[in-house]
Amino acid sequence: MRYDYQRADWGARPAKSRTLLTWSRVRKIVIHWPASITPIGATPEAIASYLRAWQRYHQAVQGWTDIAYAVGVDQAGRVWELRGADVRDGATAGQGGTTQSILAILAIDETPTPAMLTTLRHIAHELAGKAAKGCTIVGHGDAGSTRTDCPGPQLRAWVRAGLPAPTHTQPKEDIMATKDELRTIIREEITAFMHAPIPAGTTDRPWTTTATDALAAAAELEYIALADGTRVRTDDAIAAIYERITKTAAGEEPAL
Ligand SMILES: [Zn+2]
Repeated sequence: MRYDYQRADWGARPAKSRTLLTWSRVRKIVIHWPASITPIGATPEAIASYLRAWQRYHQAVQGWTDIAYAVGVDQAGRVWELRGADVRDGATAGQGGTTQSILAILAIDETPTPAMLTTLRHIAHELAGKAAKGCTIVGHGDAGSTRTDCPGPQLRAWVRAGLPAPTHTQPKEDIMATKDELRTIIREEITAFMHAPIPAGTTDRPWTTTATDALAAAAELEYIALADGTRVRTDDAIAAIYERITKTAAGEEPAL
């Protein structure tokens, strides 16, 4: 297991005792959430402070040996060592030793990010791969021993659906443009490109303003034609325009 943060990084207190897991006995990888009613915050410092509080609660109030969970995943997709992936957990009542737990560090009014889902999926499959044949991945409420809403409605549904990979990890790149929006975007891109600093070691941009203007006009016509009546992905269009400019600058295509 590759951790972004180990126990020392979040200031964990020592476990009162630890038992290593016998992986061949593990039949369920169980996903939890802390059901925090306050927002947890995105910084490592904020998350570390919550982890210390949960550990304190589990040790001092519940009387457990340590924070209940083995591994944590936050909204940035970072992996936190809690008890540790190979240590027997204390998060599934009555099933200790046959489960291993992952904590999704998510407050109750938060939606899991694609980064969190991607890492949860990866970690859950990694742990299931170490466990007994036929090991399943379940939400806590579906683990069979406790009636609970854990890990919340969104993660519960996602786990029940088989932990599908998130479809859009870069929503910013997925803007769809109308003809007029695309024209504006192309002009802005060309302008930004023309005003970018001249690369070190060269005295000028490798094309003339005239050629660039001509290319811009051509690109505009070409891609607006594509966009006319339909909608095109702006990142596809912009990538194609840059490719055209680069090829022209390299002499592979004539300037128009
Ligand atoms: Zn739980």
